[in-house]
Amino acid sequence: MKAFDLQARSIYAYHMILRMLRSVNRVYPFVVLFGYIAAFLLAFICIFSFPLGALVLVIVSVLSLAFVVFFGETLTGIEGILTRRALKNNRCPACRTGPIQKNVATYQCLGCGARFHFDGAQLSADEQEACASDASGTSAKLIAVE
Ligand SMILES: [Zn+2]
Repeated sequence: MKAFDLQARSIYAYHMILRMLRSVNRVYPFVVLFGYIAAFLLAFICIFSFPLGALVLVIVSVLSLAFVVFFGETLTGIEGILTRRALKNNRCPACRTGPIQKNVATYQCLGCGARFHFDGAQLSADEQEACASDASGTSAKLIAVE
């Protein structure tokens, strides 16, 4: 009973971390974008009041870009690892249930319909739609043959 409880708790914590990472990775590009827009506006104001500040802001912004990209890629990589582990354990990273079906090119959750690449990245809405229409097209062809 205790071992089961511990396992359930670890699965819960694991999915909470995965959900947090997923939401952080969704907003991260926008946070970075607005951060750089704010830095640009500040530098623009600095041009007239404190030109050295504008120069420092531009240099710091350009140098920080490498770290910002590295940090974002690291978060995406960790999310990919956790997503692949969840999919292997037959759990959907999006809705926490399952079951997971392995298709030719994607994993698909039969519960919520979310699809994932084999590297753990979730398909975008457009890709998802293309997959769905492709699948329905195939079944329509099968029906036509019958
Ligand atoms: Zn799902």
